[in-house]
Amino acid sequence: MSALYDVSDVSLDLAAPSSGLQRLLPGPPLRMTILSGVSLSIGAGEMLGLVGESGSGKSTLARVMMGLSSITEGSLAFDGRPLVSRADFTAMRRSTALMFQDAVASLSPRRKVGPQLVEPFQINGIPLPEGEKTAAVMLERVGLPAALAQRYPHELSGGQARRVSVARALALGPKLVIADEPTAGLDVSVQAEILNLMTGLRRDLGLSFLIITHNLAVIRHVTDRVAVLYLGRLAEWGPTREVFAKPLHPYTRSLIAAEPQADPRKRRQDLALKGEIPSVLARPSGCEFHTRCPLARPRCTSEAPEPRQVEAGRMVRCHFAEDTNNKSTGGNDETFMEH
Ligand code: SF4
Repeated sequence: MSALYDVSDVSLDLAAPSSGLQRLLPGPPLRMTILSGVSLSIGAGEMLGLVGESGSGKSTLARVMMGLSSITEGSLAFDGRPLVSRADFTAMRRSTALMFQDAVASLSPRRKVGPQLVEPFQINGIPLPEGEKTAAVMLERVGLPAALAQRYPHELSGGQARRVSVARALALGPKLVIADEPTAGLDVSVQAEILNLMTGLRRDLGLSFLIITHNLAVIRHVTDRVAVLYLGRLAEWGPTREVFAKPLHPYTRSLIAAEPQADPRKRRQDLALKGEIPSVLARPSGCEFHTRCPLARPRCTSEAPEPRQVEAGRMVRCHFAEDTNNKSTGGNDETFMEH
């Protein structure tokens, strides 16, 4: 599968917010690292999932990929072309669509759905491909009746609003859709409809998707590969089926263990994530996950693990990844740390 979007060793540093007193002190302003050495690619027609808790850097990475935040190091390329100049990013954005989490809020409340659907053509000075029927055709593509063009956003159900948001995102024939929490706030049955719509569009139009979500069920059911982000670094990535069948990083394992269970007694307490994700202003030493890791050992507090390829297409950043599924049987005889 050829890469449509390549993110290579990308880091993003920003100036840390400073108090009035700090601004008076000599020396350069404090910097905080938001993303560090992130590399991933999205293949043509591929669905890639990006998971991690709030504060892991998922949305920042999406902003970077859209060219809305400048990177400090690394490189980006879309469709084989490096993204360097403003013109490069503008051209990329014409082929990339955003699917918003709050679909109703992304629409103007005062205007009917129809005019808002055809707006992308008007903004870009492109004649409406189907003339007056354009909005109806766009609605039909996402399984909605043409009559919805005459409604206002507040008159739509959550599922209809999400479909309208998809229809609008598809207006200019993108190659990539970046979907931020595409099913958040929807009933389970409507979630399934939206995911079916997305997989149908991928099949019929060959679209690629980057799906950013907390919802592991979404990742499990529709994505080909998954990347797990922790504090702005990739902890693990690989084919979705393999990562869920045998998560190698303790963070991935804890996220999977935290998925809602029909029977809460089946939830693995020993894998439960403890505490909050640390601030980027106070990154832990060594492995940055060691303050919460159920497998942490003394080495983890001082030595940062490098990403390692453990199988073809699978990468993990953990000194003891091979022991991750072995803790209950003893793993090896090193001492685990108490949190
Ligand atoms: Fe846990 Fe150590 Fe692996 Fe980090 S390197 S994930 S602290 S076992």
